Amino acid sequence: MSATTVFLDHNATSPLAPEAAEAMAPWLGPVPANASSVHLHGQRARAAVEEARRQVAELLGADPHEVIFTSGGTESDNLALWGAMGWPPRGHLVVSAVEHPAVLEPAAALEAAGVAVSRLPVDRHGRVSLEDLRDLLRADTRLVSVMAANNEVGTVQPVQELAAVAREASVLFHCDAVQAAPWLDLRPVVAAVDLLSISSHKLGGPAGIGALWVRDGIRLEPLVRGGAQQQGRRGGTEATALAVGFGAACRRTIRRGAAAAARVAGLRDRLQERLLAAIPDARAMGDPERRLPNTLHVCFPGLDGNALVARLDLDGVAVSAGAACAAGVPQPSHVLEAMGVAPAYRGGPLRLSLGYGTRAEDVERAAEIIPSAVAAVRREKVEALI
Ligand code: PLP
Repeated sequence: MSATTVFLDHNATSPLAPEAAEAMAPWLGPVPANASSVHLHGQRARAAVEEARRQVAELLGADPHEVIFTSGGTESDNLALWGAMGWPPRGHLVVSAVEHPAVLEPAAALEAAGVAVSRLPVDRHGRVSLEDLRDLLRADTRLVSVMAANNEVGTVQPVQELAAVAREASVLFHCDAVQAAPWLDLRPVVAAVDLLSISSHKLGGPAGIGALWVRDGIRLEPLVRGGAQQQGRRGGTEATALAVGFGAACRRTIRRGAAAAARVAGLRDRLQERLLAAIPDARAMGDPERRLPNTLHVCFPGLDGNALVARLDLDGVAVSAGAACAAGVPQPSHVLEAMGVAPAYRGGPLRLSLGYGTRAEDVERAAEIIPSAVAAVRREKVEALI
């Protein structure tokens, strides 16, 4: 990242925090670090991995033995869904229509394997309703999966209330809290749900590690088999350096707490105000009342979002068009579609996501550059027609 780039794509990934880099440094040298080895090197690695597990558990207000390290949010979501639906998978699964592909795609694969899958609709702000969930539950429903906050528009779901509906019906509840983790207190969420996914690189930890929290006593079918590590729930040598970095990032998140979230929300609101004032037909998406403090999703009618992202990149503002799409392949947003956003508006989404390190001057610079980039892309589109 160039020093002059304004980086507003923290929902895609956040830069490695200095605390995480520092904590990892001793484990990146030539040290044997298999935490399952019996010798002294192994014992040291085990102590480091278990300390990291405690730090992750502290962020969640959970017991460390309930935390399973995975390779990231995607694997955590896959483990939650495949693990809870049993082997061979059977019964009924409910997911919201606005989940990340890390939930929607395993749900589709489970459907192909014979599981009945229902998709919960959302309102125009992207919120799921308790009534819709009640209507969808069946005698054979095994799991409900609804995210804490949406990665594209930032809408925060009423997870505790939804989980209470599931609990009344003796149905397990999984929450993808990957985007919520840097900003919201997850402890009350953990108290209400049964399984919860988080990812290190969204918190300023290294990419390649995440965690699934599993309430004590819940039997989960392993997804990755091949070793007795992590009580047989996820085979494979634990990644000591990554776990240590992840733990440090969790500690930083706890330390920063609500004050950092409030500061970032103020900057996000300022950016929204300036952009909507400068571009009269722009619309902010997501729930205006319950939204992640760092996320601003704006749509511009009749615009190619990817052309705008490319233009902004040249102008020194790093953002994404809706979700950071897989391998840069643009896809229409299933989230905007589920929210009933008119097709003309769906073409030009811009997701601006701030981080702990975002400064007031970054926001002012972005607010200067974005309106002229929108005007330039619109001009290019008209010129291409004549
Ligand atoms: N779930 C949500 C809501 C996300 O936003 C993401 C990543 O963007 C993931 C899951 C996947 O996490 P990871 O990149 O750690 O696999």
